[in-house]
Amino acid sequence: MLLNISQLTQHYGSALALDGVSFGVEKDSCTAILGRNGAGKTTLLQTLVGVMPATSGTILLDGQDVTTAPSHKRARRGLGYVPQGREIFSDLSVGQNIEIVLRNHRVSEPDTLRDEIVSLFPVLGEMWTRRGGDLSGGQQQQLAIGRALASRPKVLILDEPTEGIQPSIVQAIEDAIRDLKGRMAILLVEQYYEFALSVADDYVVLDRGRVVKSGRGASMDADDVAALLTV
Ligand code: ATP
Repeated sequence: MLLNISQLTQHYGSALALDGVSFGVEKDSCTAILGRNGAGKTTLLQTLVGVMPATSGTILLDGQDVTTAPSHKRARRGLGYVPQGREIFSDLSVGQNIEIVLRNHRVSEPDTLRDEIVSLFPVLGEMWTRRGGDLSGGQQQQLAIGRALASRPKVLILDEPTEGIQPSIVQAIEDAIRDLKGRMAILLVEQYYEFALSVADDYVVLDRGRVVKSGRGASMDADDVAALLTV
């Protein structure tokens, strides 16, 4: 397993938000994290990347224990995170947004990686010198994913990447996820569970901070999962 999450627990004050979550993510595979509003999906991703330290449990990334590592170290070790709400630098150009990450992470062959990102999202090449803040919401989401890719992550972690985005760009983002899958591990929280299930190799359904269902691609039953999400 590339990412191994074991008995992960998280609290907000005295409220339990993650209750012993365990699952693994294999190299070059896509895992969908599903669950109703408030199930704990965002909390899980934030705990994984170190926005909040876990109350207990362990997170192993490529065999290394990162449970207590600060978020910048987890990023350096290979966790690329695109939070809900697209974190980009609005006052910097599209190109500067990407170049900063390429430089900070000292990736090998930055020119090749930059070309890969632009070929995945051609609009970023077209808008290279424009302010990030001038992009549409969907274009900013593409930039946010491009920035995460510029750190050459081992695991790309996406929190509802298509939320609130116009349909034409939703398609571009879905196509990009399909394209990236197989080249890196992807952990995907996605409200459109039909898409999430169609692209994922594995899935985990959370409810009230617990894993209530999980499985491999072959065992996925969309109706079954839908029932868990809509009850
Ligand atoms: P959504 O789909 O609405 O984003 P989610 O599955 O991502 O939901 P979380 O946002 O992780 O769920 O929330 C899990 C639980 O923790 C919920 O009960 C929520 O109310 C609570 N929670 C989330 N953030 C905080 C916070 N900052 N302070 C207190 N409680 C919080």
